[in-house]
Amino acid sequence: MENKINAYNSILDLVGNTPLIKLNKTTESLTGNFYAKVEAFNPGHSSKDRIAVYIIEEAERRGILKPGSTIIETTSGNTGFSLAMVSIVKGYDCILAVSSKSSQDKIDMLRAMGAKVYVCPAHVSADDPRSYYEVAKRLHEETDGSIYINQYFNELNIEAHYKTTGPEIWEQTNGQITHLVACSGTGGTISGIARYLKEQNPDIRILGVDAYGSVLKKFHETQEFDHNEVYPYRIEGLGKNLIPAATDFEAIDSYTKVTDEESAHMARTLAHTEGLFLGYTSGAAMQAVHQLNAEGEFSENSNVVIIFPDHGSRYMSKVYSNEWMESQGFFDTKNTEEPQRVEFIK
Ligand code: PMP
Repeated sequence: MENKINAYNSILDLVGNTPLIKLNKTTESLTGNFYAKVEAFNPGHSSKDRIAVYIIEEAERRGILKPGSTIIETTSGNTGFSLAMVSIVKGYDCILAVSSKSSQDKIDMLRAMGAKVYVCPAHVSADDPRSYYEVAKRLHEETDGSIYINQYFNELNIEAHYKTTGPEIWEQTNGQITHLVACSGTGGTISGIARYLKEQNPDIRILGVDAYGSVLKKFHETQEFDHNEVYPYRIEGLGKNLIPAATDFEAIDSYTKVTDEESAHMARTLAHTEGLFLGYTSGAAMQAVHQLNAEGEFSENSNVVIIFPDHGSRYMSKVYSNEWMESQGFFDTKNTEEPQRVEFIK
């Protein structure tokens, strides 16, 4: 009998083709039309599912990966989760070196997905032997039959978004997109989308989001690495203390820097106003949109697409914890008070 069961072959078939959702209340005071590309709809709840599937399947096509091979990566969490998910489905071992800045929830999730996790100190330079880059490199050298994904320096990271996210946005907006706003970490997302969109219409503005404490914006403007730009900050997955080869700086028109505090409040605002429960960098991207609007970047006819990279569930002990917000001093500023919604009946 013909099999008429309507099912996906595996969870990996659900990667990509994320929805574009119109923003309504958060953007009421802004000029233009705003649409969110909500990457939390990927099965691993972030945009990194795309690069995990693409890079692993490319390695399979090239005959580099064999059954039982080991996949190694440095990651703030999302790429690790996606790689662990793909590794489980395809039968590979997964080793991850993560920054101590990553939330405990993220680390627990990686272990739950079967990965072996090394937690490395966040505030050491990239060439320190304890940094997550150096630890991953060493593990790769020591593990026979392993591949090192190396997302910051892997051109396939850009290619994954050039082949999937870029065309999806072009089709979803019927070619009417005028601005793209996206966070820049490895730079793979913004660069891949930018290359595709600029090929379709070179006038589309590509606007990167960077953190205070990261070198990206200054490097984009001066082509110089300024060590004074580097200092610790809270947002995970956005900005960098090195220049990633997976960023095509020429495809990006400008960078906007956002603060830890305003980004955290904006993530919470997205939940309260749009019903979108998203990660810290989604708040950062939305904060950048507000700043760009104040600078006069948009007009009435602008169709702005904002990439929201991941889901809020990964930040329960950070931006969605009142205790954490308070410990950061993020409730000290006025105009940021939220209504008290929890009452204990005794
Ligand atoms: N947001 C989050 C939560 C991330 O984990 C990352 C990846 N580091 C980004 C944004 C930035 O994406 P990309 O690395 O493609 O620049």
